[in-house]
Amino acid sequence: MAIEVFCLDRGAFRLQVIQMDILVIGAGPTGLTAATALTSRGLKCRIVERKDSPSELSRAVGIMPATIDALRTLDAADPFLEEAMPLRKIHILRDERTLAYIDNSGNDFRDRVPLGLPQNRTEGILRDILAERGVEVEYGISVTNITTTPDRADVNFSDSSSGSFDWVVAADGIQSATRQQLKIRYPGTDLPNKWSIADVDLKGDFDPEEITLDLYGGEGEFTLILPIERRRARIASSTEDALATLRLPMKIANIRRTAAFKISIRQAETYRKHRVLLAGDAAHCHSPVGGKGMNLGMADAIVAATAIATESVDSYSTSRYEAAESVVRKTELARKLISSSNPLAKSALWLSAHCIASVPPVHRAFMRQWTAV
Ligand SMILES: Cc1cc2nc3c(=O)[nH]c(=O)nc-3n(C[C@H](O)[C@H](O)[C@H](O)COP(=O)(O)OP(=O)(O)OC[C@H]3O[C@@H](n4cnc5c(N)ncnc54)[C@H](O)[C@@H]3O)c2cc1C
Repeated sequence: MAIEVFCLDRGAFRLQVIQMDILVIGAGPTGLTAATALTSRGLKCRIVERKDSPSELSRAVGIMPATIDALRTLDAADPFLEEAMPLRKIHILRDERTLAYIDNSGNDFRDRVPLGLPQNRTEGILRDILAERGVEVEYGISVTNITTTPDRADVNFSDSSSGSFDWVVAADGIQSATRQQLKIRYPGTDLPNKWSIADVDLKGDFDPEEITLDLYGGEGEFTLILPIERRRARIASSTEDALATLRLPMKIANIRRTAAFKISIRQAETYRKHRVLLAGDAAHCHSPVGGKGMNLGMADAIVAATAIATESVDSYSTSRYEAAESVVRKTELARKLISSSNPLAKSALWLSAHCIASVPPVHRAFMRQWTAV
């Protein structure tokens, strides 16, 4: 694949064409963003996906304003703004009584609130943009083996073909075979309890701009309701069955999906081995509290593509490790605070929620922190 750049050559700028073969492994949000970012830097790539077809299921449901800002630099933000729903209000309840109501509809927060959109639509929008730019995801093809030297990365594919690449962006998810084959450690912890989600269609009264957090029980149980379409919501719970423990009055017309999952908190010890850059869940994972995981992966992808295009990959691993370390630290603090059974933590949460809802500078600082990636 070719990239055209102006280089200073004996005192004069000349147009040079650089040939680069680039592979993106995985067509989740990270891989699709990496491929989109490469195209917008003038580079084409191959993108392979183990699954036979796009997923209809959604894990992430929130896009942060910082991600929209980054997508703008790729000329890829408009379809997200047209389709996603601004989540302007946060209602926090304790035992069915309002603890705090945070209203972000004011001018201070215009364009600075999270947007609700199912992950399969995030992927669909990116796939459409890529197709317009001449890159089609190769479904049903997985990477079966990868090796790398300081100069190349050599890859075997499941259709028995092989290839040699200048750069590989490994966005192959939490179980990343690339990470394992390159013997990059992924230290961290796995939490013992299962959490759960249910995606439902709703009838009756429902505010599609309101996130609701219901805290209850002595053990720090909670239910979180996130609108993802005008009449569709994600119910997330710190228990194994989000519907069985739902206490808020919701009129459910249809259950689209339920799932229980365990949470791991891990980071790859390095995000780069020679010609391979790890990005997204392949490089880091944490709890979904705060809705940052996909956004962080999309940010990795854009930094990786820019680093490849500008031949400045040396700082990629350190800069992205530090970015993820900060997100993991804050996410863990929030998870511990909202799911704690400790009376002191409950009081701290109550006080924080009140300050955010009623003290404008605290409100602005909270929103700035939460919506950054
Ligand atoms: C319940 C839940 C809710 C969440 N909510 C949010 C949220 O609201 N906001 C948020 O930002 N994040 C959220 N997250 C996290 C988010 O879903 C992940 O961070 C995100 O999906 C990671 O994207 P990815 O592209 O890195 O990995 P993945 O989405 O896992 O994609 C990896 C892709 O690589 C493919 N692949 C794997 N191996 C190979 C191979 N060898 N060859 C080819 N292809 C391969 C896989 O099939 C897959 O399609 C949530 C997570 C969970 C579990």
